[in-house]
Amino acid sequence: MHEMGIANSVLEAVRTETARYPGTYAAKVSLRIGEVAAIDQEALRFCFEALTLETDLESLELEITLCPRRQRCMECGDNFEVRDYDVRCPQCGSLKTECAGGDELEIAYLEVEEYGTSLIGAEGTK
Ligand SMILES: [Zn+2]
Repeated sequence: MHEMGIANSVLEAVRTETARYPGTYAAKVSLRIGEVAAIDQEALRFCFEALTLETDLESLELEITLCPRRQRCMECGDNFEVRDYDVRCPQCGSLKTECAGGDELEIAYLEVEEYGTSLIGAEGTK
């Protein structure tokens, strides 16, 4: 189950990042995962929750964006998204295409918030 290892390294990256900004906490992390990477999203979510439960990252929200598989045509250079496993170039019809993406596994962005700047706190100072 490699999802546990992935969840772990994502959380490590989140901790490293927030440590650079004292007084902030991670509110949301967004991941980009390629179709080709064959990662079970549900398993990843499960691992993520298990690892953050009762820690300082318990409130961290996980967002997953799935990236479709992409091919590049070796004849005309077109770059296209693969649908229904059809790797033929939609521009020229060539079957000479190579994988050009869809195996991503990266943090798209991390949302950090400052402690004590919630709306409720701001309203209370009136
Ligand atoms: Zn082509």
